[in-house]
Order: sequence, then C-alpha cells, then structure tokens
Amino acid sequence: MACVTATNLTIPDELLPADGRFGSGPARIRSAQIDALSAAGATVLGTSHRQAPVKSLVGRIRTGLAELFDLPEGYEVVLGNGGSTVFWDVAAFGLVRERAAHATFGEFGQKFAKATDTAPHLKDSLILAAEPGTAAIPSPAALADAGLDGTADVYAWPHNETSTGVATTIARPQGIDDDALVVIDATSGAGGLPVDIAETDVYYFAPQKNMGSDGGLWVAILSPKAVARAQEIKDSGRWIPASLDLVTAIDNSRKDQTYNTPAVATLLLLAEQIEWMNGNGGLEWATERTRETSGYVYDWAESAEVAHPYVADPADRSSVVVTVDFDDSVDAARVASVLRANGIVDVEPYRKLGRNQLRIATFVSVDPADVKALLGCLDFVIDALA
Ligand SMILES: *Cc1c(COP(=O)(O)O)cnc(C)c1O
Repeated sequence: MACVTATNLTIPDELLPADGRFGSGPARIRSAQIDALSAAGATVLGTSHRQAPVKSLVGRIRTGLAELFDLPEGYEVVLGNGGSTVFWDVAAFGLVRERAAHATFGEFGQKFAKATDTAPHLKDSLILAAEPGTAAIPSPAALADAGLDGTADVYAWPHNETSTGVATTIARPQGIDDDALVVIDATSGAGGLPVDIAETDVYYFAPQKNMGSDGGLWVAILSPKAVARAQEIKDSGRWIPASLDLVTAIDNSRKDQTYNTPAVATLLLLAEQIEWMNGNGGLEWATERTRETSGYVYDWAESAEVAHPYVADPADRSSVVVTVDFDDSVDAARVASVLRANGIVDVEPYRKLGRNQLRIATFVSVDPADVKALLGCLDFVIDALA
C-alpha cells in the first residue's frame, strides 16, 4: 500500500459533517448567531456600553439565564470581564473568607485551587486531589479520609472537568457549615449538564464553551448568601483590586452593565444562544440533547476494537466533553491531523494530559448528525491509516 500521509488522505465529501468544529473551547458558534451578529452589528457594535442598546443585551443575558436555570428567589446573575480564570481571582479576593476546600481532578480544578492556596491573605487551601479521569467532591468526610483536617468557608469543584471529560453531580456536601458557600466551575458544563442551582451558591462560567459565544467574559449566578459574603468581605476592609471587586461587579450588573468595557459581540452571541436554548425547551431540552449526542461517541468507543472511553466509570462520563483513548495500533495525533486537513478541527486531547486520545465536544450547539458523521470519518481514517 502506498504511504498515506496526513495531508494526502482525503475523506470523501459524503462522509464529512456539515460543520467540522468539535473543539471543547473555544467551541462551535452556530451560524444563526453569526447571522444575528452581522444583522444587529451595524447598530450595536461600536456603541456605548452605558446606553440602552448594549445594556439591553446584558439585560437579555440576565433574564435569559434566570429562565434557563429557573433561578430560586433572590439569586442573581452577575458578570464581568476576563473569563473564568479571572473569576478565580475574583473569588479568592471576594468570596473566600479564610479558607477554601477544593476537589481537583484535572487542569482547571487545579488552577482554581492554586489561586486560593497561594493568596497571601488566605489560609492554605484544603485540596482533595483525585486522578485525572476520575471525579471527587470535597465533602468534609472525603477531606477527613484524605487526612485534610479543618473546615472551610468555600467548597469548590468543577461541574465538568474539560481537560479530562469528567462530570460531577452538583449537591451541597453534607456536613458543611450552614454559612459555607458551594462554588461550582461550570465553564463547560453550564447549559449542557443538569443542575439544581439551589444546591449552589456560585455557579460560574465563561461563554466560549457550551454557551456558544466568544471568550473574555465571566458570568456568575450568585445566591443571596454569596452576595452577602462578598459585601461582608468588602466591608472588612480587605484590599481588593478594582477590576476583581465582586461587589462592584454586582452593583454594575444590577444596572445591566459591566465595570469596564465588555466585548459587545460576545454579549450578543451569548444572548442569542441563551434565547435559542430557552426557545427549544430550556435546560431539559439542552441536557437531553447533549446526553444523546455524547452517547453516540461513547457507544462507538465501547464497541470499537481500537478505542475505549478514557473515563472508566460511566457515572463520571461527561455528556458535553467526550474523551476517547486509543490502543497503540492507532496514532491519535495522526488521526487528528488527518481530520484537521479535511476541515474537522480541535479534536486533539487536552495538551497537558499527554494521552493517545481524541477529545470531542458534544455541546448543545453540536448537531447530533454532525457527531454521527464524525464517527464515520473516524472509521474511515483509522481504516485507511491501518
Ligand atoms: C475553559 C475553562 C476554564 C478557563 O476559562 P477561561 O475563560 O479561558 O479563563 C476554566 N474552567 C473550566 C472548567 C474550563 O473548561
């Protein structure tokens, strides 16, 4: 057989998905959103964020999320610039009173834990570290089992660990203080995984993943207790950089604005996505769709001779980010590069995980038919390279 290289292997047109974007973030933005952006763009892009047109975008996001997540009485939607990474610093300054407890089982959970652990004004964090590919919850019992003594006033873990494709069930850990806050990183899980917001005090995300927008923004759904905590810490006189001040963000959000200039296009794309989800049946519809779409990939991996799901316990498997490990007979990086040369992009694994793996996002914007087509392309490429 002639040598097949990544660049000369052509996948037949009839096998290709209509849309080749399967990245876990930045992630697919639907063409209807891009149409809305170009239609509304001429009037709203490049205009003041202190005036009605941009403020009404923020208002649409806030009311749309209240509907999507069926917010309990008193919960509010707050937003600011900088993405989830910046929100970790916002939380270290404005939500953690003395000490945070974290569960970490991948890159993103670890980064938040590091932010609170290294903050000079906080005690060392309690960090329950689990192997990548598994899940953990920082309950007092689990912390004690790991020899981590002491209480915390923030308990934090990811809803979906995007680097590994592990999802968790969101419930307030038993035995934590009434006053403690449950702070959930929902960057890739929000709008694609089931959640009862009443179990959380802070449910935060950036919009470039399942929320189908562009990056640069953080959004946090806060309970009344979280709002009170932010105010209490600010009133204590702690030094807080202005751009990371949660009380300032709350005050601005209540006026449908951000403290400093936002990316207006990101707001517009996000408002469109939230309304699309609500119009189709809301969170129940969205989570059913991601469950179905991810199921195709898991079924494929379970039955493939050369592959299997990376996450061993089916209960931990994410329905928005699917990770598939390959046997040594398949070079996953080579498969990804063939796919990329054919317009199917961003199925490479998380760079630091270092596995012979593909990672496929099955966010709500990903049409189930596209995932079926992708699996057909995988069969074709694996066969051709064998
Ligand atoms: C992508 C991601 C982040 C980082 O988001 P940025 O907006 O790039 O800061 C944090 N947490 C999780 C779970 C993510 O998937």
